Amino acid sequence: MFNSLKGLVVTLVSTMNGLRAPVTRQYPDSGNLLGKRDEPTPVKDRFMGFPALTWDDEVGEPFCTSCMVCIRGCPTQCMTSVMKDNPLHEQEKSSRRKIVDSFEINLNRCILCGICVEVCNFDAIVMSHEHEMSTSNRNGDRLDLPALLEIGFKFQKDTDWIPPTKRVKVPKGGAAEESKTPAEAESP
Ligand code: SF4
Ligand code: SF4
Repeated sequence: MFNSLKGLVVTLVSTMNGLRAPVTRQYPDSGNLLGKRDEPTPVKDRFMGFPALTWDDEVGEPFCTSCMVCIRGCPTQCMTSVMKDNPLHEQEKSSRRKIVDSFEINLNRCILCGICVEVCNFDAIVMSHEHEMSTSNRNGDRLDLPALLEIGFKFQKDTDWIPPTKRVKVPKGGAAEESKTPAEAESP
């Protein structure tokens, strides 16, 4: 008798589980019963999609100075860049003496490792949320400067991005305090 009831409970639980909404999605798109397409699966803020370049809204130019640090550190050598004198610096509107003139990333070769973001000292590159960029064209995923800035700008807007070097540090168990340079921290 007890075993029969136990079996009945197991059957009921399994039936209820079968009625739950599915936790998986058909990818890349699936028509639902109303003929509408599902939205793409949302990703978390920490998701690392393809790298993209950021835009400095305060000055009106890219953050990237084309210093080549990320390019030297990229394990797949999929990036190239060219530097130029910054006309806005000559007009005393920007502190960047040099600025990026052209930049290209071959996303077909990018392994999404994030090293370029880690080594950049200028907050100029991010791992965006873009991940649906496949194309049937050979070299169709070589993105130039305007395309990289467009993806980066969308990422900045969608995530309320703050440049890492301007973020506020929150010490363990304490109130938030402004990040300080070593010189500022030593001064009384
Ligand atoms: S993204 Fe950063 S590390 Fe790469 S060239 Fe631009 S400023 Fe330098
Ligand atoms: S994520 Fe990695 S592989 Fe892709 S461009 Fe950056 S350093 Fe290169």
